[in-house]
Amino acid sequence: MDIAFDNSFHDSMEGFYAPAEAAKPSAPRLLVFNRPLADRLGIDVADASDDQLARLFSGEEMPGGANPLALAYAGHQFGHFSPQLGDGRALLLGELVAPDGARFDIQLKGSGPTPFSRNGDGKAAIGPVLREFLISEAMAAMGIPTTRSLAAVATGDRVQREQAHPGAVLTRVASSHIRVGTFQFFAAHFGVDHVVQLSEYSIRRHFADLAEAPNPHLALLDRVIGLQCNLVARWLGVGFIHGVMNTDNVAISGETIDYGPCAFMDRFSVNTVFSSIDANGRYAYGRQPQIMHWNMARFAEALLPAIHAVDPDGVERAKQLVDAIPERFRAEWHARMRAKLGLEGIAVDDGALIDALFDRLEEHRVDFTSFFRALAMLLRGEGTALEGLLPAPDAMAPWIAEWWERIEGGGSPLDRADAMDRENPLYIPRNHLVEAALGAAEAGDLAPWSELLEVVRHPYARRPEWSLFEAPAPAEFGPYKTFC
Ligand code: AMP
Ligand code: MG
Ligand code: MG
Repeated sequence: MDIAFDNSFHDSMEGFYAPAEAAKPSAPRLLVFNRPLADRLGIDVADASDDQLARLFSGEEMPGGANPLALAYAGHQFGHFSPQLGDGRALLLGELVAPDGARFDIQLKGSGPTPFSRNGDGKAAIGPVLREFLISEAMAAMGIPTTRSLAAVATGDRVQREQAHPGAVLTRVASSHIRVGTFQFFAAHFGVDHVVQLSEYSIRRHFADLAEAPNPHLALLDRVIGLQCNLVARWLGVGFIHGVMNTDNVAISGETIDYGPCAFMDRFSVNTVFSSIDANGRYAYGRQPQIMHWNMARFAEALLPAIHAVDPDGVERAKQLVDAIPERFRAEWHARMRAKLGLEGIAVDDGALIDALFDRLEEHRVDFTSFFRALAMLLRGEGTALEGLLPAPDAMAPWIAEWWERIEGGGSPLDRADAMDRENPLYIPRNHLVEAALGAAEAGDLAPWSELLEVVRHPYARRPEWSLFEAPAPAEFGPYKTFC
């Protein structure tokens, strides 16, 4: 089996990475392979055996044409600048160009130490690998920009964390792995020439239409801000909490990256935090827009020397772009919420209607995912689903009346209910289901995880046999903590 690599980063960005090699796994065994994604990428696996795939996607065997390397980057972690991070447990095998012309990085995650591993072992345990696979596939199915997961392979080795766990390697597919932290690294250690080179590469790779802009670096900032505003609005729309929005985990492609301690909210509370290391709630659900703003300010700082070199006036324009983020985010957020609520067109009071909704969801701790599906049921003349989510049947009556008034006069209620259902997932990777599936997988039974993957790959259309997957966590599941 061959992968037709075309390694533009390796070939044109020397000095921005360190060559590295994969550790040999002792007994690689294929856990899962994403055939639809392989097809989309144009990787022909028709004749490949599971053993062959396991060898290739664990680092045991390097595919021909790979130029394995670890990317250099820095990053603000929980607000503090770490000048030297880099791929400490990831190895970029190379890039391929899919049949439709789109370019992707193929990266192994957990394949052993690199020059950037510091004190880490460069390894990954099976739980986090299968968690990233599952959640990234769920995000993709919901149409949220994200890195993808091509394969997960058990290594046969043990990985020591608080306890020893079976090791695994994830093959991650991304439009690129260039992060805000990549720009920060070269701005901090090298200076304007390197920042210009990275910016020009990023534009060539992701945003070729910006190459002719009067100040391409300023145009890059503008574009990335737009993508991040859209991305975070989409996260909030499905109750997703990334958990570790450090600048090294912000991809300039606008894809969600680094599924460490992320999780989805059940009952709505704006301050929800799941990550065990986020003691101060810096990355709580409702803080994500502000943190995105902060991260984009760091991106602007790193780009500033390049922006200034083209045109000193660009610096003021960059500042304006950063200052406008809250407004730009709000526009994306309101657009997202209008779609979720079935609102047609734009009305001046939409912002107030949306804000009031979140006050009510918080007050009653309503299951966030179920709520929007129950709301659509009202349009079908069916109120029991919503009543079942509320402490009293009429607990949200005044808000519902306002919403009803806003949507009246539009298209047919049944069509709008269907349109809402296409925006509002019914099946998300609920925490209790994820934990049960990962627990079974770690104990050697992959069946619950595989079933959950199948479910979250089809988030919108109800299937009677999947009713358990709709339900919120039982009370005895208790508060949820994630670890990365
Ligand atoms: P993250 O919190 O996943 O964004 O990782 C932050 C930094 O720590 C990155 O530079 C990672 O490559 C590095 N890192 C995380 N886990 C390990 C590990 N087990 N071994 C080596 N480096 C790691
Ligand atoms: Mg990271
Ligand atoms: Mg991570």
